Amino acid sequence: MSIREVSLTDVHHAHQRIRPLAIRTPLIESQQLSEMLGIRLGLKLENLQVTGSFKVRGAANKLLSLSTQESERGVITVSSGNHGRAVAYVARRLGIHAVICLSEAVPPGKVEVIQGLGAEVVICGKTYDEAAEEAQRIQNDRGLTMVHPFDDPLIIAGQGTIGLELLEDFPQISTAIVPLSGGGLISGIALALKSTDPSIQVIGVTMERGPAMFQSLRAGKIVEVVEEPTLADALAGGIGFDNVYTFRMVQEYVDDTVLVSEEEIAGAMAFALEKHRLIVEGGGVVGIASVLYRKVKGLGEGVVVVVSGANVELSTLFEVAREQGVLQ
Ligand SMILES: *Cc1c(COP(=O)(O)O)cnc(C)c1O
Repeated sequence: MSIREVSLTDVHHAHQRIRPLAIRTPLIESQQLSEMLGIRLGLKLENLQVTGSFKVRGAANKLLSLSTQESERGVITVSSGNHGRAVAYVARRLGIHAVICLSEAVPPGKVEVIQGLGAEVVICGKTYDEAAEEAQRIQNDRGLTMVHPFDDPLIIAGQGTIGLELLEDFPQISTAIVPLSGGGLISGIALALKSTDPSIQVIGVTMERGPAMFQSLRAGKIVEVVEEPTLADALAGGIGFDNVYTFRMVQEYVDDTVLVSEEEIAGAMAFALEKHRLIVEGGGVVGIASVLYRKVKGLGEGVVVVVSGANVELSTLFEVAREQGVLQ
């Protein structure tokens, strides 16, 4: 199979294409983190994105690129929640039928929202990887188009549009810190940043519990990890033994990857809530955790942390906030 490289031009095209469906999110300075670290630190607020996560960027780029015939047949995807919601949202806006396969591990709030968007939800398997197998079967049976959550050039280019906005809104950027799971988000952002200025560092952050990309990078080959319950449920799941793009792109572009613990994720969720009045889900807050707990060395003068999603159950957030002492 010939591999179609993702290019900066693809990212620029994506940025034009997705404009009607995804917003340009704000970039704010974190006074607290800037002062603590003695640098300028910006937060890119994809938790305020339509559907509550950046995933709408990739989903919009993919669905807006389908042929008429593909659109008429419909799409299918597998998701740990946010990608499914983004695909369901875009599909509804464009009048495309969407089947969303979710594992039993996806929080009920995320499932409900997806159903509310009119998508056909199939709950299958205990883990993301099991749900992915089922999605493959349904896709073959029904001739649907697979909207992969990360390993697709159009998805990567869509997520990469964040990188273009960072370059415009924070031109002094020396390091970008990006939540990492399957690697679509970081591959796209790193491509956009490094094609423009190769000296910009890109750091991936993921959770200690089941870090598939982190372990695969260390092993130099794709490895399977055991999925464990984590506050960062959006980052759960493997990167796929049939991975074509993101593993290679992360190997090529990402300077370092670091891990954060459940306690650090909880601390960062409470920090975002208390200091910035922001609701951020566990998977979305790992970048903040990595700077708050000084996991990354040699940041440079201008750091941007991508805050990737907001879709946490409020009961979970409040429990975390109470445990962390920011809520009575
Ligand atoms: C999907 C997701 C990520 C990780 O994106 P990948 O492209 O899989 O690396 C990070 N944060 C949130 C909130 C997500 O939904």
